[in-house]
Amino acid sequence: MTQPRDPVADLRRIAYLLEAMQEPGYRVRAFRGAAIALAALGPEETSRLAGTGALRELSGIGEVTERTILESLRGEEPVYLRRLETTEGTPLAEGAGLLRAALRGDCHAHTLASDGGATIREMAEAAIDAGHDYLVITDHSPRLTVASGLTTDRLMAQLDEIAGLNAELAPFRLLTGIEVDINEDGTLDQEPEMLSRLDVVVGSVHSALRMKEREMTVRMVRALANPNLDILGHCTGRMKTAKRNRPPSTFDPEIVFAAAARFDKAVEVNSRPERLDPPKRLLRLAVEAGCRVSIDSDAHSQGQLFWLGNGCERAFLCGVTPPMIVNAMVADDLLAWTASHEAI
Ligand SMILES: [Zn+2]
Ligand SMILES: [Zn+2]
Repeated sequence: MTQPRDPVADLRRIAYLLEAMQEPGYRVRAFRGAAIALAALGPEETSRLAGTGALRELSGIGEVTERTILESLRGEEPVYLRRLETTEGTPLAEGAGLLRAALRGDCHAHTLASDGGATIREMAEAAIDAGHDYLVITDHSPRLTVASGLTTDRLMAQLDEIAGLNAELAPFRLLTGIEVDINEDGTLDQEPEMLSRLDVVVGSVHSALRMKEREMTVRMVRALANPNLDILGHCTGRMKTAKRNRPPSTFDPEIVFAAAARFDKAVEVNSRPERLDPPKRLLRLAVEAGCRVSIDSDAHSQGQLFWLGNGCERAFLCGVTPPMIVNAMVADDLLAWTASHEAI
């Protein structure tokens, strides 16, 4: 006899794989929404409604999700899931594949604490699934209120939670961190004492993106010179979605990347499809300037941790090699590198 399957788990797995493959958001939401509707129903009521053909009457369940549920209830692997499982892991271009294989962790990820959609534990479990040895949790800083930026107190509480999870998840490691706003004057939006306690600090410009080139250059160089900053996040802030097209901010890349190289900081290659920041022209300049890079997902939910392939492709095209990549280092070496900034 075929073993019964859990239709809720199958729906969730499909959403997860679709997200990892960058399929449209509505498709991911359809499966995740159906999983929520079914979980609320409970297994007995699910079987009863399935028997009477009434599942479709529930809000959140449509034709495709109903078929998936019925297959699952019959103990079959849903066709939709089987198709995703076989196409999953289609190899990237060889060079990008080598960079991806070199990555040991991810230095930029959000959780429910700011504007992410998953708990720290859920993100950690997905990072383990992605083959990482470590994940840096980098929620937003106080000034970014639209994204529920963390106050010092909330960040302190997060550090305790991470310590607790680390005791459980070892040898996998969650590292503490922040995506701190770079203020308009180049200072960072969190207490220096707090920043110096964190394992990894990503600093990003999220405001006044249209600042004049000269002022933006000074702002970014000041931030890079700050010993608390380790990684410069999505440096141009450009954004391209169906609804919005935000052009890159302007700064003098030679000065900014020379400062990054001088202070031994990393320039982030942001893998989010709507960001893909920096543009290739700038990434090539950063490589030529001798900057380290960090290839990050900037994931806001579990499946997005798998978006690193985007960054790896671009990094490969721009001449990045594994020795330049900070998250190709083992965790202890990464921590030694971030700690070295305190001494400059
Ligand atoms: Zn950001
Ligand atoms: Zn971010």
